[in-house]
Amino acid sequence: MAEPSAKRSPAEASEEGFPHFATQAIHSGQDPDQWRCQAMIPLISLSTTFKQNSPAVLSGGYEYTRGGNPTRKVYEDCLAACENAKYALSFSSGLASCMSVINTLSSGDHIVCCDDVYGGTNRYLNRVVARMGITTSMVDCSNADNVAAAIKPNTKLVWIESPTNPLLKLCDIKAVADAAHSANKDIIVVTDNTFMSSYFQHPLDLGADIVMHSITKYMNGHGDVLGGALCMNSKDLYDKLYFVQYAVGAVQSPFDCYMANRGLKTLAVRMKQHQKNAFAVARFLEAHSRVERVVYPGLPSHPQHELACRQGKGFGGMVVCFIKGGLEQSKTFLSSLKVFTLAESLGGFESLAELPSRMTHASITQEERTKLGISDTLIRLSVGLEEEEDLLTDLEQALKKAVPDSLL
Ligand SMILES: *Cc1c(COP(=O)(O)O)cnc(C)c1O
Repeated sequence: MAEPSAKRSPAEASEEGFPHFATQAIHSGQDPDQWRCQAMIPLISLSTTFKQNSPAVLSGGYEYTRGGNPTRKVYEDCLAACENAKYALSFSSGLASCMSVINTLSSGDHIVCCDDVYGGTNRYLNRVVARMGITTSMVDCSNADNVAAAIKPNTKLVWIESPTNPLLKLCDIKAVADAAHSANKDIIVVTDNTFMSSYFQHPLDLGADIVMHSITKYMNGHGDVLGGALCMNSKDLYDKLYFVQYAVGAVQSPFDCYMANRGLKTLAVRMKQHQKNAFAVARFLEAHSRVERVVYPGLPSHPQHELACRQGKGFGGMVVCFIKGGLEQSKTFLSSLKVFTLAESLGGFESLAELPSRMTHASITQEERTKLGISDTLIRLSVGLEEEEDLLTDLEQALKKAVPDSLL
């Protein structure tokens, strides 16, 4: 902590004006004017309010933490720089940041959204936002013509993800942004950049107006913070979203801002290693006799590999495979893993495996799952930072246990 600007003994302080115990306990040594230290690591400023020298004069730049907080500012400035953006705002979860974008819309407005969007975004748009008189068209955004065709006179927002979850389908961000903006220049194009992180993809450079992140995943990367963020270049959009952040209050706590700011420090090294391990896992599985098919944007076998090379600086750490057999084989495979942990979520340092049809995507109807290609043999892997050889050995032993020779 900072050195006090003037050293006073407790006795002197009480002589100066804190004669009673309760007052002393509250004020002695606490003068807000002393916080001018040169700590290398940002302070966690848990203060909800800040001293004003005269009414409405914010000498320290802050008033009340919902509207602004020093630890949050440090983190938001870092986020903006990482995303090649002028501005960033942080929220208490990825979905809270999504909600804050929707809060700029009005009843009667229309949204175009990619049909295999993150399940929580789908649920929010179709089961909460729909009740407020805002309609959403879910379309396959891997073809920008579908976006152009879905735009109506009252369309205000286009919401895309690339790559999508769990099938790692890509959207051509530039083509979608161009299609939306040429239909109506005021349409706001939002890209959920959670899967690629700021290290591998910069959607604002491709024409998107807002980048959204679930900080919970790669950006924080340590599985110990739930958070969301919005990044943008337009001052007008920033002002609108800052107003919503302040008015609605789904802000990130100072402690979580501190944690996520710390996570960003290793994003580059983590993403390089995630990708290196993901490549190894994807190539291993693609060559494996007990695996039907592998989906990884970095493999030439991915149908949009060329777009993946053009659009981002890398392919990320998520790998999807279809193992041979059926539900029973998937269950045995997942419960036999020892290094990969059977759990939802993604983007942390530890490797995770899950079965979308029964876990993350279980709330989608069977019919919809079939349409999207989410079968009971589709396994989603979030490849972590463990030693490559240990990951491959683990996959080998689990595949051997799960898929009998009779199915080869
Ligand atoms: C997890 C996730 C979200 C939601 O973020 P939360 O932090 O869980 O609210 C949104 N989009 C994608 C792609 C995600 O993976």
